Amino acid sequence: MTTVGTHREQIPVHVLGGPTALFEYGGLRFLTDPTFDAPGEYQGGMLTKTAPAAPVELGRIDVVLLSHDEHPDNLDNSGRALLDTVPLTLTTPGGGQRLGNSARGLADWESIELDRPDGGTITVTGVPAIHGPGTRAEVEAVLGQVVGFVLSGTDLPTVYVSGDNASLEVVREIADRCGPPDTAILFAGAPRFPILFDGAAIVFDSARAARAAEILGARRVVPVHYDGWAHFTEGRAELMAAFAAAGLADRLDLRAGNIAEGPTLEPKRSGDAAPEKDRSDTAVRKPSRSDTAARDLGRSDGAAQDPGRSDTAAQGKGRVGGVGTRS
Ligand SMILES: [Zn+2]
Repeated sequence: MTTVGTHREQIPVHVLGGPTALFEYGGLRFLTDPTFDAPGEYQGGMLTKTAPAAPVELGRIDVVLLSHDEHPDNLDNSGRALLDTVPLTLTTPGGGQRLGNSARGLADWESIELDRPDGGTITVTGVPAIHGPGTRAEVEAVLGQVVGFVLSGTDLPTVYVSGDNASLEVVREIADRCGPPDTAILFAGAPRFPILFDGAAIVFDSARAARAAEILGARRVVPVHYDGWAHFTEGRAELMAAFAAAGLADRLDLRAGNIAEGPTLEPKRSGDAAPEKDRSDTAVRKPSRSDTAARDLGRSDGAAQDPGRSDTAAQGKGRVGGVGTRS
């Protein structure tokens, strides 16, 4: 793990709305949970999107970090279309199997090395996440697997992407194993449904996000997943209040959501949200899981799957070459 305290430079992060953020790291461009669909009702009316994504040119995306594929507020229709155009999507072991194509599952603590355009590598490690209160087995039986990510590399700051996680225990484990991140992209918003876990938050509320920042020793926290959906019960104001109450207001970076103040994006493609399918290998996509839309947020398959099991787990550290050089 990179020595803490030597990296003052912060990576550019652009929060695009909901769980979707774009950041540049080691010369590669990463996108978290892609969601670009229009406001409206989704999943049989159970989920209501209230705001569109920020209108930006995405430019080249090298890697999608997908915390889970089953929920439309984490992967929507346009997000699925986008996956066809990126060289690599890292997600849960189950998601890797469902999505196929360029998707690859990461089991807990499994790492993959990505080649940087200018030489060297980026290590992306899958880290645990629990999408609700209770034990991992209890929560995964209802809401499925989620994966978080820790990115590191020589002379690079460490970045943690939490995914939909409600567990501080998990955060403690990640802090112990991976050390303090320079930037923590924390999923917050306190989403609640009366029918799920008695209405408890299934992702961090603001106070827990602040507590997570403290446990992690994160130098900067960029919150995502707190706006744009009706089931998010806490937003920007609650985050500011919670971090202030915890004495961590200086760690909270809400300006990352202001595109105008961020570094210039690199537009390389018009029509960013639903790019044309121009690669022959995209024709064999599996259908989306819309057949489960009428059900509640529960999962439709894979419930019996061993948490953390992955066909790739036995391979240990994988390596993907050429990701950074594709244009
Ligand atoms: Zn979810």
